[in-house]
Amino acid sequence: MSIKIDKDKCVRCGKCLEVCPGSLIYKDENGKAYIKYENNCWGCTACLKECGVHAIKYYLGADIGGNGGYLYTEGNKEYLNWHIVDKDGEEQIITINRKESNKY
Ligand code: SF4
Ligand code: SF4
Repeated sequence: MSIKIDKDKCVRCGKCLEVCPGSLIYKDENGKAYIKYENNCWGCTACLKECGVHAIKYYLGADIGGNGGYLYTEGNKEYLNWHIVDKDGEEQIITINRKESNKY
């Protein structure tokens, strides 16, 4: 599993670099984010949640039945929508209230 960053969408904010616990994301010569050590990504999804322009996709590995499936996020300050796209292109959406998400 790993992420893929769409450089056309990236606005160079640097937030994904700051939150990646493995320091796996860097900026290229144009200030756009890229993942340098793909194989070391353990899929915490912190970068997806932080990217305000939703430039990052998270690919689900075959080991968990992903086989080409992926996740991406979009939303606003109040809600975060997780889009889950399976290998056949079928999509499900899970909506999370950001203010409630850390309550337990
Ligand atoms: S958080 Fe998104 S917009 Fe910001 S640097 Fe990372 S990929 Fe680019
Ligand atoms: S999913 Fe987690 S470990 Fe992987 S690049 Fe994003 S922040 Fe880093």
